[in-house]
Amino acid sequence: MLSTEEYDFVRVVQRFVDSEVKPVAHDLEAGDVYPEKLIDGMKELGIYGLAVPEPWGFGRVSAACYVLVTEELARGWMSLSGAMGGHTVVAKLILDFGTQEQKDKYLPRLATGELRATMALTEPGGGSDLQAMRTVAHAQDDEYVINGSKMWISNARHAGLVALLCKTDPSAEPAHKGISLLLVEKGEGLTVSRDLHKLGYKGVETSELVFENMRVPAQALLGTAEGEGFAQMMRGLEIGRIQVAARALGVGRAALEDSLRYAQERESFGKPIWKHQSIGNYLADMATKLEAARQLTLFAARRYDDGARVDMEAGMAKLFASETAMEIALNAVRIHGGYGYSSEFDIERYFRDAPLMIVGEGTNEIQRNVIVKQLIGRNPIPR
Ligand SMILES: Cc1cc2nc3c(=O)[nH]c(=O)nc-3n(C[C@H](O)[C@H](O)[C@H](O)COP(=O)(O)OP(=O)(O)OC[C@H]3O[C@@H](n4cnc5c(N)ncnc54)[C@H](O)[C@@H]3O)c2cc1C
Repeated sequence: MLSTEEYDFVRVVQRFVDSEVKPVAHDLEAGDVYPEKLIDGMKELGIYGLAVPEPWGFGRVSAACYVLVTEELARGWMSLSGAMGGHTVVAKLILDFGTQEQKDKYLPRLATGELRATMALTEPGGGSDLQAMRTVAHAQDDEYVINGSKMWISNARHAGLVALLCKTDPSAEPAHKGISLLLVEKGEGLTVSRDLHKLGYKGVETSELVFENMRVPAQALLGTAEGEGFAQMMRGLEIGRIQVAARALGVGRAALEDSLRYAQERESFGKPIWKHQSIGNYLADMATKLEAARQLTLFAARRYDDGARVDMEAGMAKLFASETAMEIALNAVRIHGGYGYSSEFDIERYFRDAPLMIVGEGTNEIQRNVIVKQLIGRNPIPR
């Protein structure tokens, strides 16, 4: 359950989306324009500080509240929810695993959005098999020297802080024991080499990062011990996957709301199209699955708030919500007929945005691997 303050906050974000985001999203998307003004509005609302408690921030909200805020933003424009998702994961990583010095140094500025953060896991050679990564940070005196490259890094140009997953011991066996997280501030040796052209998720850049003999202080290591980065990031991805599920809820809801309106306005054979059973059935299924996806996502969020390990629950939420959003977006195209295919309507945007939630933050194939591993682990047969 959300507190009264949290409900009020979700309503404030809802109004922001209706009055500030919805009217401009179509044009920003079409021009692939970075939404500077909307990001400023999000900063003012405190959206970049949702994970940061006092004394560094203004008070952390529950994961369930975070889900509903994300859903609202994505309902207006999925790109906005992408502009704060990775940032929140990094803030949580610092909060959960950072030293006192790291918390004091970064959390206050992350909370206001003055400093924005991104996470860099994926490499040109692959994103699913993280243990095969090739980016290496060698300890040298009291510094790390970083070499390698990262691919598909969202907000790379606008983020001042990169949570970099890399190998500090490339020879470690098993490989994950040689993986660490470094908090890297932009500087000499780090280049945002190019932006990647995308099907959707416009306006917010996704880029390649190249590290060439970049030197960072030893204090950049998240926490105090090397070799813990993989486990730290897996915990971070739990909230990341809940957030991606929430983005899918927003895209699905926008597609459903537009379809409900259109199905009442548009007539054929002398009646509104929702009265044709096929169209009515689409709407009924869309609403039912969307609500099921929301409940699954809130379930994962509540378990997360309880402090439980939720890789299975977050994986289920992300898997189901993203596949549901894709299905709803496709049905919205069907309901809108030719106009569903027109770039003058928002429907085609939902259809282009939905696949990101299937691929991002660990593909849905990987989510199924996580889910089944947990299922078998929790239900072993006696031997
Ligand atoms: C717009 C966008 C933004 C992104 N933002 C970020 C970001 O900010 N930071 C970041 O680090 N990454 C980011 N990513 C990367 C994203 O997380 C990866 O694309 C994703 O994890 C998949 O990695 P890959 O693309 O290398 O595919 P691969 O790992 O090469 O996978 C290819 C296919 O093989 C399947 N596959 C691979 N291994 C298995 C297996 N063991 N079992 C079953 N199937 C398998 C995959 O599911 C997929 O279908 C972003 C991606 C996109 C598209």
